[in-house]
Amino acid sequence: MLLINQNELLAEGNHVIRTAIEKCIQCGTCSASCPLSQYMDYTPRQIVTLVREGLIHEALKTKTIWLCSTCYLCAVRCPAKINIGEFMTVLKRFTLKNGYSDNLLYPKLMRTYVEYVDKYGRISEPRLMIKFSLKINPFKLLKMLPLSMKLLRDGVLSFSLERVQNLHEVKA
Ligand code: SF4
Ligand code: SF4
Repeated sequence: MLLINQNELLAEGNHVIRTAIEKCIQCGTCSASCPLSQYMDYTPRQIVTLVREGLIHEALKTKTIWLCSTCYLCAVRCPAKINIGEFMTVLKRFTLKNGYSDNLLYPKLMRTYVEYVDKYGRISEPRLMIKFSLKINPFKLLKMLPLSMKLLRDGVLSFSLERVQNLHEVKA
């Protein structure tokens, strides 16, 4: 198991990580408020606990940090004024920068998504899924083929992908 020192993480996002470690009272308001917590493997409160206890690699391996959509609902309700959305972003950035995400599915999906947004300012779901599947398991495409063909025929999905005007504004 990889041992990651808390100081390494603090170097990535000192203020937000330190505030969470020092001020979280483990009330669980963030977990109860999070619209995505039912899909997470650890609740936001538990992620803070893992980091506080120095189990940083465990926290970096979770689905939770990638599912967080940084909606900040937890942040506005946290009685200790901890910005959990930002906390999750620091964990994601740290994971990507240090190559801890190489075998994880969610970062790969996120990278593929960002590649499209970077280039076009938007995504096309079929193109995204094809590119993503080719990266992880091309055989999955065969399974998805019948449903995809139906959705394309019915006009629910489309391959067309035009670059948005003023792409620089999306990047900003
Ligand atoms: S709401 Fe704030 S204080 Fe409560 S568990 Fe979440 S981060 Fe900690
Ligand atoms: S910022 Fe992330 S953890 Fe907080 S409520 Fe939104 S999705 Fe959940």
